[in-house]
Amino acid sequence: WQRLKGGLARTASALSTGITDLFTKRKLDAGTLEDLEDLLIQADLGIDTAGRIAGVLRQERYQRDISPDEVKAVLATEIEAVLEPVAKPLAIDAEKKPFVLMMVGVNGSGKTTTIGKLAAKFTAEGKKVVLAAGDTFRAAAIEQLKVWGERTKVTVVSGAQGADAAGLAFDALAAAKDGGADILMVDTAGRLQNKAALMAELEKVIRVLKKQDETAPHAVLLVLDATVGQNAMLQVEAFQKTAGVTGLVMTKLDGTARGGILVALAAKFDLPIHFIGVGEGVDDLEPFAARDFARALVG
Ligand code: GDP
Repeated sequence: WQRLKGGLARTASALSTGITDLFTKRKLDAGTLEDLEDLLIQADLGIDTAGRIAGVLRQERYQRDISPDEVKAVLATEIEAVLEPVAKPLAIDAEKKPFVLMMVGVNGSGKTTTIGKLAAKFTAEGKKVVLAAGDTFRAAAIEQLKVWGERTKVTVVSGAQGADAAGLAFDALAAAKDGGADILMVDTAGRLQNKAALMAELEKVIRVLKKQDETAPHAVLLVLDATVGQNAMLQVEAFQKTAGVTGLVMTKLDGTARGGILVALAAKFDLPIHFIGVGEGVDDLEPFAARDFARALVG
């Protein structure tokens, strides 16, 4: 909770200061409601959610005095209600051996780091993990995954830079099966400069995995960087179509005042949010919990 609260401090402070400025010794009237709606939109919560929250306040407290704390309490309750339906833990089906988890997202969103953090978590739970360095486009990505492999003591299947990503994923799945692994995590490329080529590559990786296990991949997690704000919505749309995204991870909530974007995503897409990243360290990945997040966000 402390880590979450610390991580969300910048978003919370922006919201909290804004609400205090707006509602100190003021009535809840049309003017303050409009200002509140603007504040929520600026905090990336999305127009729909901002409108809904303003609507609730209008109905309950119109033309009455209201304190900043009361506004925050309403805000936390409403945000929690938006988040609750998508706050679902990642279910690892132990019958699938290995359970194949593919990580997708644009470069720099935090895929490799999240794989490293998850490798540490799964290993600590006693699961045997194999990683596939499927971002074969960038030498740095391959190296970075190897470093995480050493740190968490898990096997990394990698190839040379420029190697065929699908072929590598195929080999990694074979190796994971041979080694009796419980979980295979597949890193992927994220160069959005060439979107068509990237999507074709992801489709091919999926197709090739299915040759060995027609139910694979068992989860496709889209990693989103919170600092990009509204752009995250476009990324969901782009990856949802081709990569068959099953769930979301939002990273870098610690470095931004735009944490409200997670609320906008929850309101718009029917995709589970599994984890949130609140730092670069191995422990800075939290299972997503609606109530805690809503409370930490509002400050
Ligand atoms: P990839 O290109 O999607 O694989 O992204 P990386 O995993 O290489 O991450 C890009 C940068 O973001 C790295 O410097 C990471 O340390 C950093 N990063 C990843 N997740 C988080 C997070 O939750 N918080 C912060 N502050 N930085 C993060």
